[in-house]
Amino acid sequence: MKLRFAIFAPAMSDKKVRLRFAPSPTGGLHLGGVRTALFNYLFAKNHGGDFILRIEDTDQTRYVDGAEKYIMECLDWCGITPDESPAVCGPFAPYRQSERKSLYREYAEKLVREGHAYYAFDTPEELDRNRKEIPNFQYGHAYRDTLRNSLSLSQHDTDKLLDAGEPHVIRIKVPVGETVSFNDMIRGHVSFDTNQVDDKVLLKADGMPTYHLAVVVDDYLMKISHAFRGEEWLPSAPVHLLLWDYLGWKADMPQWAHLPLILKPDGHGKLSKRDGARLGFPVYAMNWFDAKTGELTPGFRELGFLPEAFDNLLAMLGWNDGTDNEIFSLDELKEKFSIDRVSKAVAKFDFEKAKWYNAEWIKKLKAESLKPKVVEVLAQNGITITDESYLLKVIDAVKERCVLLGDFYQQSAYFFEAPKAYDENAVKLKWNEAKNEFFKTLLVILNKVDETIDAHIFEEQFKALMEEKSLKAGDVMLPFRIMLVGGKFGPHVFDIAALLGKDETICRVEKALMVFNG
Ligand code: GLU
Repeated sequence: MKLRFAIFAPAMSDKKVRLRFAPSPTGGLHLGGVRTALFNYLFAKNHGGDFILRIEDTDQTRYVDGAEKYIMECLDWCGITPDESPAVCGPFAPYRQSERKSLYREYAEKLVREGHAYYAFDTPEELDRNRKEIPNFQYGHAYRDTLRNSLSLSQHDTDKLLDAGEPHVIRIKVPVGETVSFNDMIRGHVSFDTNQVDDKVLLKADGMPTYHLAVVVDDYLMKISHAFRGEEWLPSAPVHLLLWDYLGWKADMPQWAHLPLILKPDGHGKLSKRDGARLGFPVYAMNWFDAKTGELTPGFRELGFLPEAFDNLLAMLGWNDGTDNEIFSLDELKEKFSIDRVSKAVAKFDFEKAKWYNAEWIKKLKAESLKPKVVEVLAQNGITITDESYLLKVIDAVKERCVLLGDFYQQSAYFFEAPKAYDENAVKLKWNEAKNEFFKTLLVILNKVDETIDAHIFEEQFKALMEEKSLKAGDVMLPFRIMLVGGKFGPHVFDIAALLGKDETICRVEKALMVFNG
């Protein structure tokens, strides 16, 4: 095997750090895609560099309406803010490849002129026939001379076809028997045998570039210094390496890192959209509605994840800071992220762990920050907030019990509406006159309280009354909770009473006594 050239990415040069996230707008954004965006963003910000969003929409057959808007909204939700994008523009605009269509042809033609690419006139039918007739057919060095292209045809015939406007593509001419290699920032030295690489199309018959040409041209023109992308793009790397070299831009090639795949929870295979539906958890960042099929793919956001938790859990899919710490804010991640600490081992996705991150973030965030989301959850369930300071206290009282944002409804509704029903099984069977007497006396005590209930004092009064009536905590604490809450859950019952206030607590006890005695 001849080693004609090896391309080693240069060590960190004095080039401005510029990274890009370059999604194709073909549908919803898988969590692996958001992780790619996040790692590019974190590295850029860690080095004081720029983060660019470039929309790679050159494949019109896979273009999906609404996907670009979705991607932008998703980055926005995650707090991954591009410095340059189709929305904010910037010095290298346009940032949508379809709008750059006219600039790619010149590079493809240059490659043809210099013998690194060629025109191919094969029709889709001819190619299909070859695929059927020849096992493992690849358009490459083994067959290119027998196919209809500017390598097999004479110059005269080629010119005639071009002049006649015969539909054609431009393909890269991959060299035979060479090794191309590069230094991946995660995987180290990676090399490819060019005999295994086919002559990929660079410019399509409609004049649009393919991903391969566009990604190289744009990374060059946009002065991208580093590019992190999913491991699934590794097989494309030799084509890109050859293009960087053939276009004379080898010294400007970005440093690449191919991020490890995210696997299904059982570790068997890549986590796909279908796995989410099968295993009952989201795989997309946000709900994605496919207008063509009418299918709705659920997202983390709508399930009740906080963006802080989502960013955090994505960062931990393959990265750690070298300590046991697992909780990082986006600012901490920006400060600590280093590509050297990204593992090349695949990362298994664990939904239970994802929920743990969310619960931790709900606990960590101040009630004030959770407020808008809780207001929304309550509003969706018909509860309108009139007293914001009361809401903040309620959030503080229940947030330890919430895993998803939607849990705030179940965990706090009783603070806003008296229970409509009681978990009577927990009370009725053991209800008796002694308990009834206890609560009647408790009402007398409550009526004497001035204005507000002090949880601590009230607890002491409650317990003293219990002793006086020879009752145990087990006899009256649970019924009291059920009177206030409706069920067997919630924070410390005296804190609940204090928050509800004197009048509401009295009202609930009176109402429940009627039901329990009835
Ligand atoms: N357009 C490619 C995608 O959809 C980008 C791959 C790359 O980052 O080079 O993921």
